Amino acid sequence: MRTPLEVLQLPVGPIQTNCYLVADPATRDAVVIDPGGEAPRLLAALAERQWTTRAVLLTHAHFDHLGAVAEVVAATHAPFGLHPLEVPLLRQKGGAALFGLNVPACPEPDWLLTPGTPLAAGSLSFEVLFVPGHTVGHVAFYHAAAAVVFSGDVLFEQGIGRTDLPGGNYATLMTSIREVLLALPDDVTVCSGHGGLTTIGAERRDNPFLAE
Ligand SMILES: [Zn+2]
Ligand SMILES: [Zn+2]
Repeated sequence: MRTPLEVLQLPVGPIQTNCYLVADPATRDAVVIDPGGEAPRLLAALAERQWTTRAVLLTHAHFDHLGAVAEVVAATHAPFGLHPLEVPLLRQKGGAALFGLNVPACPEPDWLLTPGTPLAAGSLSFEVLFVPGHTVGHVAFYHAAAAVVFSGDVLFEQGIGRTDLPGGNYATLMTSIREVLLALPDDVTVCSGHGGLTTIGAERRDNPFLAE
């Protein structure tokens, strides 16, 4: 049996990063994962559904995932969390300058996430999985009962995260994918930072970057 969880995928910002609004339909408690831009649109989607934001979470602090953090936090007063190793990148606005872009500065995190301990946000609870390699402090958010993982830029439908940016490491990324993500059951839906939804099973079988 699956715990119902409502998941809204909204591609936002300059490179259409997937922001996920995730809610418990029973309580309308919600979390915002990777608000990369277009804060008014995200806030409208939350208000329309009468969802209460209990946390703003980043899988990692690249510029394309954080553009709306300041505005969403200011509007919702929700605590903002990410892995401590991402804080230096956060303070550099996610490396936006490398791409000749500017994004709004982020507030300091309220919450430093600890992999291996459950993350509770209102009535929602996730496992924090440590999956470095794309960045040094990348995490994924796993909801076992709903069989869904928010994988950021580690694993994509038919793809893997790039490792050529500062802090990237190919061997580390592959270890994160093989030992952490592929350890999840095949029927787990993968909600990636870019592109469409997939499953752990489909990527285990067909992802060309994971062929032996
Ligand atoms: Zn990234
Ligand atoms: Zn990204």
